[in-house]
Amino acid sequence: MKHTIWLLWDHLHHDHSILAAASPRTHRIIMIESRSAGARLRYHTHRLTLLYSAMRHRAEELRAQGWHVDYHPLSDKKNAAAEALAAHTKKYRTESFHLIEPTDYPMRQAVTLLAKKISTPIHTHPDDLFLCSREEFARFAKNKKRLLMEHHYRAMRKKLGLLMTPDGQPEGGAWNFDHDNRAGIREFVRAGSPQAPPPPWCAPDAITRSVIAEVKKYFPAHPGDPATFRLPVTRQRALDWLNHFIRHRLPLFGTYEDLISQKDPLLFHSMLSPFLNCGLLRPLECCQAAIAAHRAGAAPLNAVEGFVRQIIGWREFVNGIYWEKMPGYLDANALQAERPLPRWIYSGDTRMACMHHAILQLQATGYTHHIQRLMVLGNFFLLAEARPPDVLRWYNEMYIDSYDWVMAANVLGMILHADGGYMATKPYAATSAYINKMSDHCAGCHYRHAEKSGPRSCPFNSLFWRFWHKHRDRFSANPRVKALIAGWDKRPAAEKHAVLQTADEHLKNIDTL
Ligand code: FAD
Repeated sequence: MKHTIWLLWDHLHHDHSILAAASPRTHRIIMIESRSAGARLRYHTHRLTLLYSAMRHRAEELRAQGWHVDYHPLSDKKNAAAEALAAHTKKYRTESFHLIEPTDYPMRQAVTLLAKKISTPIHTHPDDLFLCSREEFARFAKNKKRLLMEHHYRAMRKKLGLLMTPDGQPEGGAWNFDHDNRAGIREFVRAGSPQAPPPPWCAPDAITRSVIAEVKKYFPAHPGDPATFRLPVTRQRALDWLNHFIRHRLPLFGTYEDLISQKDPLLFHSMLSPFLNCGLLRPLECCQAAIAAHRAGAAPLNAVEGFVRQIIGWREFVNGIYWEKMPGYLDANALQAERPLPRWIYSGDTRMACMHHAILQLQATGYTHHIQRLMVLGNFFLLAEARPPDVLRWYNEMYIDSYDWVMAANVLGMILHADGGYMATKPYAATSAYINKMSDHCAGCHYRHAEKSGPRSCPFNSLFWRFWHKHRDRFSANPRVKALIAGWDKRPAAEKHAVLQTADEHLKNIDTL
């Protein structure tokens, strides 16, 4: 056995293409817990616990299948990967290492550097974690000034044959059913505030308990308490999680997709991203499970199509954009936003109820659903003109499912419009009217959601109008917002003055909002 497969922490999929083409007789496996990868940013401790524990469980599974796994746990070593690969080569006289192309640039660069440091060649194989290859996406993006997710999504539906009729039409006669997916808090309450049973949390086993202790030791200043970690760390438990979602949450996933509730952070979302992103679950099997539920009459089309679109639409699209636009994408700042993050952004110590709850929830679990990421936190960062690299760093640190490939387009493109509209036709800016319609936050908030000016007015309101006022030249011809900007222009001068002055005050006092 002269060849070794290197399994990275987000390449834990059971159908790993190099493993599938090899055998325990021809290849060894090496797995390395890199402390420097875990400390590249102040990553949430639940993210680190998930990844290290899932790696250790995967190593056990592979050993049980007869593989020789050379496992290097977290240690004080500074260059763990280089040392582990060198020691492995020496011990087993390895002639080559094989790994799937890393999912992001920093890891790709690290591998390139390592390949120069050690004498054994490192071969990278095409990424098999996504349904659309980097080359296929490049063909889709070629010669386009801006990209529309919808176009890519339709192409993916056709390619994969998901929710398509035999004559090539979308099932149900439409590509999406979003008009059925916008129920707000009032509709939710009117429907009796439906609740799904809690997902199948997992008590940590001995392996996870030792990871928790090591994460505490090695990453003491990272957000979150690893002792409260309760997520699946094996494929079998992740499949249980998926099946529970399909049975209990999927049916209402569409209807309440945009809703935010203080009482129920998950609502009808799947919380599958942590498992999808490290390979414990596969995107196609999640879609097929949802479609099977629809075929069995257990989930309506608006829910199933909405869920499938998130996975083969948005997920593939943001990964494609990452590889299309990197490495320059991280420097994007089209709106020239240059303000620092507020001081309370890690503690949640703000009187804005929606921000306060989202941040506390993040500290505790590393998870908020999409609308909190986009329309509460993201909306605030956009309107508060926060510097894109700081925002990117913050999201990467606070979320359990964070990876460069998924954060870049979601943060820089979708929320901050920093890429000048490459992936979003307009910024997702909103006043408190949206937050009040979709959530139960505003009623108990220190700030008054119905006021546009004055010290107790909700900051989202005056900052929203300041945003369009400031960027009018860029957006006044945009068909999606030109009426809004024209409407603002017609407001009485005194009203505009009061709103803009309030926005200035809120920005000046941002650390004590
Ligand atoms: P559900 O609502 O149940 O959706 C199902 C799945 O669809 C998700 O698990 C995810 O895999 C996929 N999905 C949905 N929307 C997106 C999207 N915009 N981009 C990529 N995948 C999507 N997703 C991450 O996986 N990691 C991140 O670090 C991340 N950061 C984000 C930051 C911002 C500012 C925004 C606006 C979105 C971010 N997303 C990220 C996308 C999306 O919000 C999460 O995937 C989703 O909220 C995860 O929760 P869920 O599994 O309950 O999703």
